[in-house]
Formats: sequence, C-alpha cells, structure tokens
Amino acid sequence: MERIEESRLMDPHTRVEGHIVLVSPLTGPVVPLASVPDPVFSEGLFGDGIGVDPLVGRVVAPCDGIVVHLARTGHAVTLQTAEGAQVLVHVGIDTVELNGKGFTPKVAQGAQVRRGDTLIEFDLDVVACNAPSLVSVVAIANSDAFEVIERAGAGHVEAGKSGLLVLRVRDGAVINTAHELVANEVRRSVTLTHAGGLHARPAARAREAVRGIDARVEVRFGERKSAIESVVGLLSLGAGEGAVIELVGIGREAQRAVDAVANELLREAPGEGGEAPARQQSPAPVMQAPATAVALSAEPGVLAGVCAAPGVAVGKLVRWDEAELAPPELASGSSAAESRLLDKAIAAVDAELNQSVRTASQRGAIGEAGIFTMHRVLLEDPTLVDAARDAISLGKSAGYAWREAIRAQIAVLGKVDDPLLAERAADLRDLEKRVLRALGLSNTAARSLPEEAVLAADEFTPSDLATLDRKRVMALVMARGGATSHAAIIARQAGIPAIVALGDALHSVPEGTEVVIDALAGRFAYTPSALDIERARSEKQRQAGVREANRRTSQEAAATRDGHAVEVAANIATLEDANTAVENGADAVGLLRTELLFIHRQAAPTVEEHRQSYQAITDALAGRTAIIRTLDVGADKEVDYLTLPPEPNPALGLRGIRLAQVRPDLLDDQLRGLLAVKPAGKVRILLPMVTDVGELVRLRERIDTFAREAGRTEPIEVGVMIEVPSAALLADQLARHADFLSIGTNDLTQYTLAMDRCQPDLAAQADGLHPAVLRLVAAAVEGANKHGKWVGVCGALAGDPLAVPLLVGLGVTELSVDPVSVPSIKARVRKLDYNDCRQRAQHALALESAQAVRAASRESWPLD
Ligand code: PEP
Ligand code: MG
Repeated sequence: MERIEESRLMDPHTRVEGHIVLVSPLTGPVVPLASVPDPVFSEGLFGDGIGVDPLVGRVVAPCDGIVVHLARTGHAVTLQTAEGAQVLVHVGIDTVELNGKGFTPKVAQGAQVRRGDTLIEFDLDVVACNAPSLVSVVAIANSDAFEVIERAGAGHVEAGKSGLLVLRVRDGAVINTAHELVANEVRRSVTLTHAGGLHARPAARAREAVRGIDARVEVRFGERKSAIESVVGLLSLGAGEGAVIELVGIGREAQRAVDAVANELLREAPGEGGEAPARQQSPAPVMQAPATAVALSAEPGVLAGVCAAPGVAVGKLVRWDEAELAPPELASGSSAAESRLLDKAIAAVDAELNQSVRTASQRGAIGEAGIFTMHRVLLEDPTLVDAARDAISLGKSAGYAWREAIRAQIAVLGKVDDPLLAERAADLRDLEKRVLRALGLSNTAARSLPEEAVLAADEFTPSDLATLDRKRVMALVMARGGATSHAAIIARQAGIPAIVALGDALHSVPEGTEVVIDALAGRFAYTPSALDIERARSEKQRQAGVREANRRTSQEAAATRDGHAVEVAANIATLEDANTAVENGADAVGLLRTELLFIHRQAAPTVEEHRQSYQAITDALAGRTAIIRTLDVGADKEVDYLTLPPEPNPALGLRGIRLAQVRPDLLDDQLRGLLAVKPAGKVRILLPMVTDVGELVRLRERIDTFAREAGRTEPIEVGVMIEVPSAALLADQLARHADFLSIGTNDLTQYTLAMDRCQPDLAAQADGLHPAVLRLVAAAVEGANKHGKWVGVCGALAGDPLAVPLLVGLGVTELSVDPVSVPSIKARVRKLDYNDCRQRAQHALALESAQAVRAASRESWPLD
C-alpha cells in the first residue's frame, strides 16, 4: 500500500483509491475506544471505532451516504457509504433511556446525505444531566468487512472538518453497497396454493432459502408487511391458502432472493399438509381429551386417563398452571445491562433447545426435533427481539420486556382466524416461560413443593418439565395431552409416572388433596382410603425392587422356562444408544434407524461417512450383530437435505425404499458404506417399506453388484421389514429371497387399521394388539417358516409386556426394544412357558378387539 503520512491520509480532500475517510461528526476531544465508559463499545461489540467527548450539541454526517438506521429515540444514527461501510454514530452512554428527551433528529431514515450535513441536534445540558456520560462513539458496524487503518490521535476534533478515521475494505470481504441496495429492487407476486397458506413451516423454509443471498426480502400482503427473517411477522400477515402476496427484494442479488423465496413458497402442493407432523406433536394444549376418557371410570373418586409413563405414585396434588412467572415491570439496572441479560437468557435457551433437538433426534422423535427447531427459529425472530429491546429502552426489565413482546405477538396471531396459529401461540408461550426461567425467574421457588408432589396441569410443556424438582415430583397428571406428547416422552425418560387425558374433571380436584396414581392402568384416585395409600406405597417399592432385580440378570441370554430361546435386542439410532444397549444387556441391535444419524445436515452423507458411522457403532457393540436399516425417510421422518417432491399423503408416498425411485444415489451410497463395515459378518441389512418380492429382488441384485465391485467375498444377510399388510400376506414369497423378516408393528398397525401413527387422538385405538395386526404377524411367521427363516419384531409392540407372550407364542424369536427396556423384557420372557404361549396366542387371534386381547393377556400373564 502507498505510504502516506498521517496528516495527509486523514485529510478528507486527499483521495486514495480504496480508502474511505470519515470526518468527525462531533466537536470535542478524542477519546480512544478502549476508554469509552461502556464495555459494549470499549470491547468493540459494536465494531471498531473511536470516541469523541462532545462540546457542541450537533452531529454531522462523517461521510456521504444513506441513513440506513435512525434510532426512534434520536440518539444514534447509522450511515452507509457508497462502498458499503456502515458508520454508527452513538451520542452519549445509555442515552437510549432518555427515550428521545433532548434529541432532535434532522434527517429521516433512508435520506441521502453529504459529508457535513446535520443529522441530529441535541441539548448538551439535558443529555449531560440525564445520562452517565456524554462520550459518543463512531463505530464501524460491519468491521468484519472494513478495517480501520488510521485513526485520529489525542487532541481536539471539529465536526465536519477534522479527519477521524480512515477505512479500507478487508481482503475477500463481501459487501452490500448502499447504491446497489437502492438501485436493485425486484418485485414478484405469488399466489399461495398450498394448504394452510403462509404457515410456520413454509415461512421458516422461505427464511432459510435466502440465507447467504446478498439481498433483503420483504413480504407484503394487503396493508401488512414483514421482513423474511421474521417468522412471527410472516405468520401475522395472515396470508392463507389462495392469498396473493408480493415479494419485494432489495440488494445485489434481489432477483435470486425473490425467486428462492417464491420457489420455496410454491413448493408445497395443495393438501401436502406440511404443518401436520408439527401440529400433531405440538406441545400446545390443543388436543382434546378423548371423550371416553372420564367415562371409562365407573369408580367413584377415580378419574381415568391414558398412561403416558408407567409407575405408581402417592402424593399431594399441586396445581402447576396457576403459578405464573411474574417478572418485575421496571429494570433494576441500566437498559444496556438489562439488554445484555436478555441476550444471555436467549443464548442459554437457544443452547437448551439445541440440546433438545439433538436428544429428540437420537431418540428417533424427528417430529419432536422439528418442533424444537421451530422454537429456535422463533427465539431469534427479529420481531420479538426488537420489540423486547424497545421495551427495555423504556426502562422495563428484561423479563417484563420479553413477556410483553411475546404476548403482543400472541395477540396479533389471535386476530388471524386460523386454528394452526393458535398452536404457534402455544409455542410462543413456551418460549416466554423458557426465557423467563433463564432470566432466573421461577414459579417453583415461589411455591415450595411438598415432599411428595403430584403436579397437575392442563398440559405440561417441555420447559415446565425441564425445571422440575425430580426428588419431590412423584407423578404428573394432565387434563389433556396425548401419550405421544413431548411431556409424555420426557416423563417416560425421567421415569416419572404420568397420566394424560384425564379431562376437565381434574381441575375440580382441590389443591393439596392426597392422590394415588397407577399410571399403567390410567387410574387417578383422588379420594383414596388409608389402605389404598398404603398399598400404593408398597407397590411402588416392589416395582423398584423388580427393576433392580431385572437389571442384575440383564446380561444373560433369555429363554422361556421350557428352554425356548428368544433374542432380546435393542432399537438404536446413535452411537450413544449403542453403548446404552450394551450396558442394558441387549443381545444384539435389532434395528439401527440410520436416518437419524443424518437428519441435521445440509447434504446427504458420503459413502465414507456412512461407513464411519456404522463402523463406530459396530465396534461399540463388541461382537454383537447389528441390523442396519437403510434410509427410511418420508412421512413422519424428514431430513433437512432432502427436498422430496410434494405428496398429498406422504405416509402413503415415497418413503422407505421407494425413495430410491427418485433418489437412487442416496441408497447406493448407503449400501456401499454398509458393505465396507468390518467384520463383515456382524452387519445385516434391513430394507424398510417393502411391499412385494420384485422390490426385494431388485435391491438384492444391487447389493450383490456393489459387493462384487468392492471385492467383497463374504455374503451379507438381507432382511425385509414387514410393515405393510401386503408384505405380511406375501411373507412366504419374500422369505424365499430374504435372510430374515423384521416386523415393524408401528407402521403395520398404522396401515392395517388406517390410523395415523402420529395422531394422538387415535393413540388408544391404534393398538398393535388388535387381532387384525396379530393375524398379520402370524402370517409373516408362517411365511418365513416355510423357508426356514427367522422373524423378529422391532416395532414398539416388542417392548409391551402384554404383547411379549403373544409374539413369542406366534413364533417370533427376536424382540428388539428400547435399550432401557431390555432388562424387563428379558425378565418377562424368562417367566413364560413357550407351549402355553403358543396355545393362548392362537386363541388371541380369534378375539374381536385389542382390548379383549389385552385383557386376556393380562389374565394369563399378569404384569409384575
Ligand atoms: C415400525 O414401523 O414399527 C418401525 C420399527 O419402524 P419406524 O418406527 O422407524 O417406522
Ligand atoms: Mg416403520
């Protein structure tokens, strides 16, 4: 670079190619940035720059440019130069709290100004008396793109005349210039054809579509408009199906950005129902208790519900919903401090949600992971965060500001007549609570729980459960909710007994009532006798003893009393699960759901990535075999990197191996990775959603070709999932070509009974013990036996203690269950008599309903 002495370089009249000279916007002594009495500036959080202690109440433009931001309170202004540098001039410290007092802006946002033009006038005395300091800052907001190469030394500078800073573009920086921003505007109208219009999922996708594109996009609908970054803003537009919206893009790549958004919005075909999975598993209290729930109990003093997490408990009823988190209205510290508290709380919640996404993904709960991902999107929504900051600038506490911002948005959503938006409101309420808790507010602290508390709520949200004092909380009971809700899943994992769908009658049970819960029976007794309580206590103790005993024998193989061996394997999704499976005594891995290893990625895994993941799991299994299922995406399982063609009914669409019809490359890479895992004999391949033998034969040929290409000489076992009725009925044909069959009762039940597995209202009816499903299990075993092949069950039914004797009796020889259920299922098998199971299983096939099968099983093989 050309060397120029400081005085020349700083001279605004000296033109050096690539340099931007800023004159001082204020008159007064220079203050080095490090000496500015506010760490947000002195630590450079607003960018590199310099301070001036003003002696005159006037801010002038330090350069030619466009006013890209003028604070509503008039205390700060940002100019953007033609080169794209963003220059912030902030007058005084904590002056946002003056709320405009003493400041008179002289320009409007968007104005084009020349160096030396007056931008703001301010009353020096008013500001000096009401703010901690008058020291003002000139900072380069996009310091990542521009570096300060010279700055004024100590001394006095004069507004509009003295050079203050010299900037230069950093090497390789990508910059949006003000001129391009203004010049390049693109508009496009889009008719929302998909069901539900501009809902959360398309809104979030549209937002993602422009990430990294150098342009801003605004969405307009009638009088309303929203930046594309704000999902909440987009939802509040209320643009439903058939609405015509306008996309306005500004910036260098405006056309690309507008097209990306339009494509994303047009991607969902009518009826795709893209919201559905999130809606069905939403933590929102939208699910009505089944009408039969309360009626089921004829016993006085007992409410009947649905088991969400098994166990027995005794405790005093505590109403959880009544305790609101109430932040103080006024801030105790400065606005800047309060703003920092909010930032910290939001960051903490974001980390917490990120963790929830990961654990949900590991468990296979992709729908749930999607909900937490959506919460993360809402958490960084500029509409919420800006509104909260505005309230903070008016002296409100961080908690109060956040709560008000959320509630204002909920009110806006409430005005849009759409039931789906009511669920987004529930998401917002959950975020309200999470952030308030991260700010240190708590409702448990305010009300000390009794030693043994049974918490009651309409429905718990995941964040409620995150803060529970687990030593004191004996059980959870909910008026609404479903067995697949988040609260249910979290309660199960935490081992807290829980009952959902008890109905509104729950709300009339007085606080402090001693209650007894038998979650497995869905029984909530609110007038228990002393004897009931005593019995429940000893039952609870007994159950704990049984769990411990099961754990002690879990590493041994399981066989029935008359010596019929049953392999108890584990369903896993991650390496961590593999370790848990080994610890819990799993004989093998009966199902590795591979889609979960790769859901949060921008691109499909490579052959080598597949190999590495499976190799690590195979190694962790220390000699046990692993059945690895090929990708089963689609329907309730979505992956980020796959844009599947829109389908009116994804559960009946391109899922499982059918995906290879449109993306053969994905399956090929996975098969190649799988075939490379060592030792060769420890891995088996399982193909999901096979419907007939042609599919299997084609895939087997493909596997053989890849094996030959890789020079592999050892054979690899290939199994077929039996999860659609056609596969069960054609099991004899499939078994001729397959090495084993594995029954996926989750899908087999869904497709046999035509009941969506994600629909909580149908949870009680979509029972795998339905005789129709059992007959298909029997058909699958019969078909496999014709060719001497074995049959396992890897759906949830395998882990249901009432189903175990029947599945064993029907000839299933492998049960693949949750890793933590392995000890109890092994113990269950050891108590059975195989011949007895066979006979009774045949009787079960003749029963007329799932309830009848359950009752018969309970009678023949009482639960522990
Ligand atoms: C099943 O359908 O039962 C099964 C095991 O597969 P998934 O739950 O992953 O669909
Ligand atoms: Mg399945």
